[in-house]
Amino acid sequence: MPRPIQASIHTEALAHNLARARRAAPEARVWAIVKANAYGHGIERAYEGLRGADGFALLDLDEAQRVRTLGWRGPILLLEGVFEQRDLELCSRLDLWHAVHCEEQIDMLATHKTNVPHRVFLKMNSGMNRLGFTPERYRSAWTRLNALPQVDEISLMTHFSDADGARGVAEQMAVFTTVTQDLPGERTLGNSAATLRQSETLSDWVRPGIAIYGSAPDYPEHSAADWDLQPTMTLSAKIIGIQHLAPGDSVGYGSSFIAEQAMRIGVVACGYADGYPRICPSDTPVLVNGVRSRTVGRVSMDMITVDLSAVPEAGFGSEVTLWGRAANGVVLGIDDVARCAGTVGYELMCALAQRVPVVVSA
Ligand SMILES: *Cc1c(COP(=O)(O)O)cnc(C)c1O
Repeated sequence: MPRPIQASIHTEALAHNLARARRAAPEARVWAIVKANAYGHGIERAYEGLRGADGFALLDLDEAQRVRTLGWRGPILLLEGVFEQRDLELCSRLDLWHAVHCEEQIDMLATHKTNVPHRVFLKMNSGMNRLGFTPERYRSAWTRLNALPQVDEISLMTHFSDADGARGVAEQMAVFTTVTQDLPGERTLGNSAATLRQSETLSDWVRPGIAIYGSAPDYPEHSAADWDLQPTMTLSAKIIGIQHLAPGDSVGYGSSFIAEQAMRIGVVACGYADGYPRICPSDTPVLVNGVRSRTVGRVSMDMITVDLSAVPEAGFGSEVTLWGRAANGVVLGIDDVARCAGTVGYELMCALAQRVPVVVSA
């Protein structure tokens, strides 16, 4: 028997969340962002739930290839564009649209041999200062691209740093709008947070990622349930051992948890080598048989320990949900667990370990 741990990817929830993003941007086309192997879900596993998207956006050429292999003939966008000259050959061959964010990428295009000109997304650095042309250089980059026979349509792109927070998008919106005012071409501006929270960012194409994977882009201000997003990944494992603690007994490495009263704890077949964050302290929420409980003691490589006080009927073989949906339908938000780890849902889903078996379910 394999270790009793499993991740489930929920096809219907992916489709539901995609529809939710569409509802927020009814006039727009929707890129389903599937970078980082569909945020840890697996591109092939997520595809069935996301095939209603208007396009797939990602970073790795290898992942673009996989989307084509799945039979997708619609748009695919490389969000960071190409990394070296020969990547352009694959763009031509697979009909990939690609971002252009620096002069070096224009240089590569200028010497690329292709019969079919490319559709490119010219990226502006409107204030985030990661990728893109500064507002001052943007129009000259556009003019340069526009003169290339290798380029067909030029679309306009930027990315917001604070769509999820207090600072908002106003400054970046103002920069982008001013500079692109009279430029032709489709626009793509917002990620999940912008799409759900900032209707002024809605453009020809929206770019939701995290929302379609059922995590709130602005947790804890809003939860996934507040946004009507459903969990798309459940991580569950079973109890493989029981211990009875007396007052004063400790649990696990470092004896970080000490029982104040007699209690029963369950040892669960999930540890940091499965992608459960080691940094999660005692009191991180879990579901035992679908009932909310908590971890006690330190996370080890292959095990965690959980309090069974609230679930007297639980025992060897009982189901423990680390995040996602329990068999009884109760949900433990990945964001609730991520917060205990001082991080965001994105990181937990992306860090699901290779050794965890994954199934696709409705
Ligand atoms: C990852 C990414 C997105 C999606 O962001 P979420 O916060 O997951 O919605 C959108 N646009 C770009 C350029 C990205 O890199």
